Amino acid sequence: MKIAIDLDNTLFNLRVVEDSSRVLGLNYTTSDVKSWGYREFSESLRKEIYRRFSDHIYMCCLKPFPNVKNKIVEWYNCGHDMDIITCRNEHIARDTVNMVHKELPEIRNIYFAKDHKNKAEIVFNDEYDIYIDDDGRPMDELTKVYYCGQMFLISNDDTMYNEGYRNNFFITCVKGISSICLPQ
Ligand SMILES: [Mg+2]
Repeated sequence: MKIAIDLDNTLFNLRVVEDSSRVLGLNYTTSDVKSWGYREFSESLRKEIYRRFSDHIYMCCLKPFPNVKNKIVEWYNCGHDMDIITCRNEHIARDTVNMVHKELPEIRNIYFAKDHKNKAEIVFNDEYDIYIDDDGRPMDELTKVYYCGQMFLISNDDTMYNEGYRNNFFITCVKGISSICLPQ
């Protein structure tokens, strides 16, 4: 099977809210994020978050969530092709690829999408059987074009920003990658 997987907060644990918050003397956590764009936070916190998104040193030393590695190895051993599709900035691409190769060498390709709509286009056009993300917006786009693969949304206490997608008929919600059972 061809599997498309998001990178940040799907495979890799990005604590940008905690780290940005701490340097400003605040104590927000990822679970306080309610929207894409961090509109619920002050401008100074948002600025610090976005500064880190472009910082290749900060963004490219992340670790996968616990149990992700086991699942990826399991799927690799079953012969599945796994690609990452991320909306990370292109200018941190080289270091992002290095990080993925180091931590999860089983991943085949890494694609850099321009935005969530472009991400959906890649998933649709490249005919992935499975799509896994913590962002429900590309899934909305895929629903509109009658995507026939299966969509898994990573949704848990840390992803309140995707709460609105939890009851979507076309989406299967899981707490993490390790709870996904692929269709036979
Ligand atoms: Mg993500």
